[in-house]
Amino acid sequence: MPDNRSTKAFKDSSNPTDGSKNSVSDRGPATAPESSPIAKAHEQIPIESIEAPKNLPAHGVWVYIEQLQGEVAPVSWELMGVGRQLADKLNCPLSGVLLGHDIQPLTELAFQYGADTLYAIDDPMLEPYTNECHSIALVQLCQAHHPEILLIGATTTGRDLSGSVATALRTGLTADCTQLDVDVDNRKLLQTRPAFGGNILATILCRDRWPQMATVRPRVFPEPEKQPHRRGALVWSDLGLDPSRTVMEVVDRILDERTEGYLDEADIIIAGGRGIGSKENFRYVEELAQAIGGMIGASRPAVESGWAPYSHQVGQTGFTVRPKLYIAAGISGAIQHLVGMQNSDVIVAINKDPDAPIFRVATYGIVGDAATILPALTLELGARMH
Ligand code: FAD
Repeated sequence: MPDNRSTKAFKDSSNPTDGSKNSVSDRGPATAPESSPIAKAHEQIPIESIEAPKNLPAHGVWVYIEQLQGEVAPVSWELMGVGRQLADKLNCPLSGVLLGHDIQPLTELAFQYGADTLYAIDDPMLEPYTNECHSIALVQLCQAHHPEILLIGATTTGRDLSGSVATALRTGLTADCTQLDVDVDNRKLLQTRPAFGGNILATILCRDRWPQMATVRPRVFPEPEKQPHRRGALVWSDLGLDPSRTVMEVVDRILDERTEGYLDEADIIIAGGRGIGSKENFRYVEELAQAIGGMIGASRPAVESGWAPYSHQVGQTGFTVRPKLYIAAGISGAIQHLVGMQNSDVIVAINKDPDAPIFRVATYGIVGDAATILPALTLELGARMH
């Protein structure tokens, strides 16, 4: 590792309760000779694995709170919920990490959703998100405070960030976990996710590197209750980066202007699978969705057959959803589909095979022909809705 990589100069507030910012005076820009832009960026990333010093063991569960222009990604609060359970089992604090600019108004939310401590950096270079600046900030905080576990939402931003941070810290990362638990005896994070093409659910351990890092997709875990009066310790830090030495710049942002909404935010989903039989029959799924104000979902074969667009695929290689009502019609219940919808509040399965695995996760099961049952439901429920 080149000597000129500054890994220790980052400082944070010595008084975690007063919320005041400290200044960093001892961190100058990296002193490497001028080289390519990418090399320049890497000079600013302090690469060092966290091997917890004996007198300062890795401690605490951390959640990266993803925000954009003051809007927090809901998955961050969902992770706070599961993070709280892990922290309680490990008898350690739960902390949030909030990075951005003008983020003060969001700090209270972190405590209300369960954080004991919030590590925050407010800097114009952190808004909007760039991999470079957020990676550096998160790596610096990890190196300063040695978290034991770091959870990040498997959003576009989270996927981008988590790989860089894990690489910089020389630690492991388990992506798209569907369950998280801890072994309290050895304090290992039990990271469960589909593996080997989704044929098994594997529980993965990161045995001797810290932090133990996992990403989790939105809607895998429920959002915890907000506790309006809850408070915690706020630790402000400085980024300490020289803007002239960064290589990433956001030139433009083009918003996805879809009007139909996002599948993983839907309260009602009517999903069709291969058992629907044809594109023609798939209209029964669409008509029921329209009648009761839901969105359509689809299994992978239904998408591959061109009956529904990929943006409606549910499962391991599609969306993870958690609606109040999920109606699965002509879907067998393969594990790759189940991991995307099994946490829905109420699951209604329609299948002509009474032994179909989908019935094992269903709240209500209807054995029969989807092409008959769906139109009947549309008629009955549609009339009640209007
Ligand atoms: P099938 O398994 O063929 O089931 C059709 C069902 O319809 C059967 O249970 C049948 O009894 C029933 N049926 C037939 N006719 C009728 C009728 N008239 N009325 C009522 N019921 C009827 N799949 C996904 O869905 N999402 C994913 O993200 C995904 N990712 C994958 C990733 C990998 C790496 C792999 C290997 C596979 C993935 N799959 C995914 C595919 C998955 O393994 C299954 O093949 C798929 O989920 C099956 O889809 P299906 O239930 O629609 O079809």
